[in-house]
Amino acid sequence: MTVASSSNPSRATPVIAIHGGAGTLSRAHISAEQERAYHAALQQVLLAGQAVLAQGGTAMEAVCEAVRLLEDCPLFNAGHGAVFTAQATHELDAAVMDGATLAAGAVAGVSRIRNPVQAARAVMQNGQHVLMVAEGAERMAQEAGLATVEPSYFSTPARHAQLLAAQARQAGVVLDHDGAAALAGRAIDEGRKMGTVGAVALDAHGHLAAATSTGGMTNKLPGRLGDSPLIGCGTYADDRTAAVSCTGHGESFIRVAAAHDVCARMAYGGASLESATQAVVHEALPAVQGTGGLIAVDRQGNVCLPFNTEGMYRGLARVGQAPESFIYR
Ligand code: ASP
Repeated sequence: MTVASSSNPSRATPVIAIHGGAGTLSRAHISAEQERAYHAALQQVLLAGQAVLAQGGTAMEAVCEAVRLLEDCPLFNAGHGAVFTAQATHELDAAVMDGATLAAGAVAGVSRIRNPVQAARAVMQNGQHVLMVAEGAERMAQEAGLATVEPSYFSTPARHAQLLAAQARQAGVVLDHDGAAALAGRAIDEGRKMGTVGAVALDAHGHLAAATSTGGMTNKLPGRLGDSPLIGCGTYADDRTAAVSCTGHGESFIRVAAAHDVCARMAYGGASLESATQAVVHEALPAVQGTGGLIAVDRQGNVCLPFNTEGMYRGLARVGQAPESFIYR
């Protein structure tokens, strides 16, 4: 899905796009009420990001604010509402990248930072390193004055039910009753849903930024990192090409360096944003059985939101226009 910018490239209207994860989605299993809840959450986040841009805020400020709100919303797999590892713990990953300077920051395997995206930004601002993990990342976040929480803050009953269901399925047994009950009627087959969140933006100064945050994949082994905190895999931004945030089966996105591949196709091959994102999502990723999608914006304000799953929670908002949100194809 591509939404072309109608404006003059030299004065492109600031725009933000967000995602709340991709996955197997069955229209039959989503109630009108659930659909409304997802759209309302997406719209609220888009309005907040749009407001930052409208006030002259930077793309980095807009994507961090959008992702912070998505982290706080239990509907999405990031921050409060993050999925569980196989040991019923939480290990969160996040990354940010500034397209103007190629500055980047990321945290991985953290379980006490309320908003991992802010910690990723703190790593970037600190400037010494790009990727910090576990306790070291948590210490840096605390030193930066960021809020910390008990790991149980991230837990929700729905995510715990998903863990039980995933574990029951792997053991080849009938779904746990609670897990089945909790899963029934959800918008997406939660066992196959990738609910990471992300945002990309173009600001009034012509700069791009990207941010991604996730709890990872349900029932993942403790210590596993996905693509989200890896610069070039799940997150990338370069003013010369595009800002990209991915969601999907992280191992595949890592293997094709998906986010950077979009920018590389544009930089080296002269591809448009649309053809670069289509090639990555519908050719490069399927070649390694990669399922998921991504959101991307270029400095002309073109926005592409492609995915190769049945659905992806997503939306965009240009300054001065009503936000638009989507779930299905
Ligand atoms: N890409 C994320 C990961 O593999 C999962 C997701 O997108 O939901 O950790």
